[in-house]
Amino acid sequence: MTTLTADTLASRLSEPRLLRHQSYINGAWVEGPRSLVINNPATGEDIAHLADVGAEGARSAVEAAQTAFERWKKVSPYERGKILMRWHDLILAHADDLATILTAEMGKTYREARGEIVYGAAFIEWSAEEAKRIHGETLTPPFPGSRGWTTRAPIGVVACITPWNFPNAMITRKCAPALAAGCTMVIKPAPETPLSALALAELAEEAGVPKGVFNIVCGDAQEIGPVLTGAPEVRMIGFTGSTPVGKLLMRQAADGVKRVALELGGNAPFIIMDDADVDTAAAGIVASKFRVSGQTCVSANRIIAQPGIYDDLLAALKTKVDALKVGDGFAGDTDLGPLIHTQAVERVDGLVRRAVDGGARIVSGGHSLVDELGGAFYAPTLIEGGTPEMDLACFEIFGPVASVYKMDSEAEILRFANDTPYGLAAYLYTRDIGRVHRMTEGLDYGMIGVNAPMVGSAATPFGGVKESGIGREGGKWGVEEFTELKYVLLGGVDT
Ligand code: ADP
Repeated sequence: MTTLTADTLASRLSEPRLLRHQSYINGAWVEGPRSLVINNPATGEDIAHLADVGAEGARSAVEAAQTAFERWKKVSPYERGKILMRWHDLILAHADDLATILTAEMGKTYREARGEIVYGAAFIEWSAEEAKRIHGETLTPPFPGSRGWTTRAPIGVVACITPWNFPNAMITRKCAPALAAGCTMVIKPAPETPLSALALAELAEEAGVPKGVFNIVCGDAQEIGPVLTGAPEVRMIGFTGSTPVGKLLMRQAADGVKRVALELGGNAPFIIMDDADVDTAAAGIVASKFRVSGQTCVSANRIIAQPGIYDDLLAALKTKVDALKVGDGFAGDTDLGPLIHTQAVERVDGLVRRAVDGGARIVSGGHSLVDELGGAFYAPTLIEGGTPEMDLACFEIFGPVASVYKMDSEAEILRFANDTPYGLAAYLYTRDIGRVHRMTEGLDYGMIGVNAPMVGSAATPFGGVKESGIGREGGKWGVEEFTELKYVLLGGVDT
């Protein structure tokens, strides 16, 4: 296995200037005590020490964003679109370096990391094009002699707190529509993966994003979070992460009646009906479950199969799971990288152990690979015989563990699928058009993939219902989130 340390990471990049170690506030690279240590999850080695700018840094970023907002909202949408398109082009031109940084700090395979860069850039392209289409409507005159119309005004300064599993795309998915709409941003990236955020800031500056419009503050979440949620200048909090932190931010934002956009946890059912094509379904499950080692909020969490295809599906899955190669994300033939850290390995292993104690059977894997491979690796795992009451079925696994449940009737499947506080993504494999309608209407989820293991794209609405979140990212819906609807009534027109 290759090793990657602070010394060797920079030498891998064609543009080491992208490897930033300071926060980016008001167009300047800002120092602070270097207390954030960034780890390579494949080896456990330190790859960077980063400045923590703390509450003071967060306050100055908010002030800078507020000052910049007064100018940025008046920049023509056509011009904002052009700047965003330059940012998009620069990101794609530097995709190899951005993917290298991403794999180094987060662990996902280089192929997945490069895919994320392209996916993340697509939101910038889409929003750049949309900037000139953010407009209101002329209304049918509500009173005699009057005229009415609406406009869409940028909401103001937006603070975003982002997670480590998509260190690039979770930022672009929020920032691109926000900047297109005329908002300015303060971003607090995850402490595990700030380097990808800072590399994006470097390229935003090169693209011509004016100072103060896009700020990145790195540091302690407990210190920075309350500054962002408490500042009166901040009009919206965008967050992707765990449900408990999302609820906390929502409570903090309530005092200032700030808008919140929350993309929280999931517990995705992946349903295979007995008329489905087994090989296609098995390939879909592997794509959904083992992408990013299962560390996505839309990963299949409960695989539910009807008895007619159950045995064939399990056999097809076992063949595929046993063939998955685990290792350093930089090795060319790796299918699965490490988990984010060893605590995640312990948490996932705990879920598996408790399921086995409760009567579930391990078909493949079912153990940590930390001793064999170092870092934070877990074996791709297939389990059957779990029950709906087990933690494995109730909690988001966030690891490479596929748990298959056998259920018969549509009603029973829907009951199990919906029996969770979450409602982000669900998947359904069937070739029966009647079932497609009955089941998609019955599933309480924000996104449903029918015969499709992945649902996200720059053009479509991403988000959940129930405790999976509020709001949508992507497409025109993602842009609208960052605007206020303003209504104007003009009287006395016909007199
Ligand atoms: P995970 O457990 O997967 O890291 P979290 O919800 O804890 O998910 O983290 C997502 C983001 O939320 C990260 O940027 C993290 O630093 C941030 N975060 C965690 N706790 C708080 C908090 N109390 N206030 C503000 N941000 C927080």
